[in-house]
Amino acid sequence: PTGDASQPRASGKTYQHPHALPSYLDADHLGPWGIYLKQVDRVTPYLGHLARWVETLKRPKRALIVDIPIELDSGEVAHFEGYRVQHNLSRGPGKGGVRFHQDVTLSEVMALSAWMSVKNAAVNVPYGGAKGGVRIDPRKYSKNELEKVARRYTSEIGLIIGPTKDIPAPDVNTNEQVMAWMMDTYSMNVGSTATGVVTGKPIELGGSLGRREATGRGVFTVGVEAAKLIGLPIDGTRVAVQGFGNVGGTAAKLFGEAGAKVVAVQDHTGSIHRASGLDVEALLRHVQEHGGVGGFAEAEVIDKDAFWEVDCDILIPAALEGQINKDNAGKIKARMVIEGANGPTTPTADDILQDRGVLVLPDVIANAGGVTVSYFEWVQDFSSFFWTEDEINQRLVKIMKEAFHSIWQVAQQHKVSLRTATFIVACSRILQARELRGLYP
Ligand code: GLU
Repeated sequence: PTGDASQPRASGKTYQHPHALPSYLDADHLGPWGIYLKQVDRVTPYLGHLARWVETLKRPKRALIVDIPIELDSGEVAHFEGYRVQHNLSRGPGKGGVRFHQDVTLSEVMALSAWMSVKNAAVNVPYGGAKGGVRIDPRKYSKNELEKVARRYTSEIGLIIGPTKDIPAPDVNTNEQVMAWMMDTYSMNVGSTATGVVTGKPIELGGSLGRREATGRGVFTVGVEAAKLIGLPIDGTRVAVQGFGNVGGTAAKLFGEAGAKVVAVQDHTGSIHRASGLDVEALLRHVQEHGGVGGFAEAEVIDKDAFWEVDCDILIPAALEGQINKDNAGKIKARMVIEGANGPTTPTADDILQDRGVLVLPDVIANAGGVTVSYFEWVQDFSSFFWTEDEINQRLVKIMKEAFHSIWQVAQQHKVSLRTATFIVACSRILQARELRGLYP
């Protein structure tokens, strides 16, 4: 029978949810936000009179939890938990990506939104910090189902996003197609095409040249600058990369083109090693075809844990949080860690690496290239005037280099890690804006 809403369309089965409890009710999931709070405590002594406002950084301004029900291809109804957290809006609209991952929790999205506040202030783009996420393993769902998730999620967070309010972008497991669906859904709901509501869109829909490679290009740019400062020549340097998606893949490619050897790569499908250097172009093609590095013929397969002990000069974690921790930080052979991912190093691991003289280029500056070109995309959308790829890359490199060198200076001046130095620069900017705006109402 058609038109009877009480009748299931395809099957009468009840969908078995992979998570019994929503993550915000699960006491075991309080992780990343706790890490961020520790990082704020480390910066507080350096904030001078602005320390009066530091509590602002410890409380997200606004957090929205949404339910995302969709009808699956099988006819069953599945519910997913979705979030949009606006950590701070003192310096401008919220800005930050949306991730689709089975381990997304409120704590994680809160931490990621806070790291966006810090990152955006560190490179001085006129944004606050925000982040979104949906707790879903996208590999288990069809394109049709993922489109429904993206659209329903966008409708639900439509209350708080918008080109001048909060601008999502891609993050782990989301891409240009997801941004196109989000832009379309928001536009349909408001009644006019609003390209500026998300960044990381397809070029055909107001996306920016250079956006896809921007995060990896930023990782490479600060890596090269830091390598000069510690006397590490890029030519022949050995690089290990965790995560071979948009960030890790591009960074590996750029380091390879600059003469470095990519000796090890790990992702969710496996860990591979080749002391003489992997063929990065061939590996990128393999990942494109097979969804991961697993099964790549011209390399030796290594154990998951052995990846962290690989002989290398530069290690680039470009996957998820908490990867470098107390268990493996002592084994890392690299002289420099460049954080392509957000939150890959725990505070304990940070201390271990610092004691061992390993230089860490923290996420909040190292992976800021993505949001920097997102800013360019947003500006181009507003003026409906598009720049050349050369112009975009030049502006990106200039911003990244200048931000990195001023942070380096602050680290020298206060004898602190680059993470704390980045937090000093960024949190001072955020709290200065907070103080100038004042409390209202
Ligand atoms: N998801 C990226 C990040 O973590 C980009 C965010 C954006 O472009 O707004 O920085």
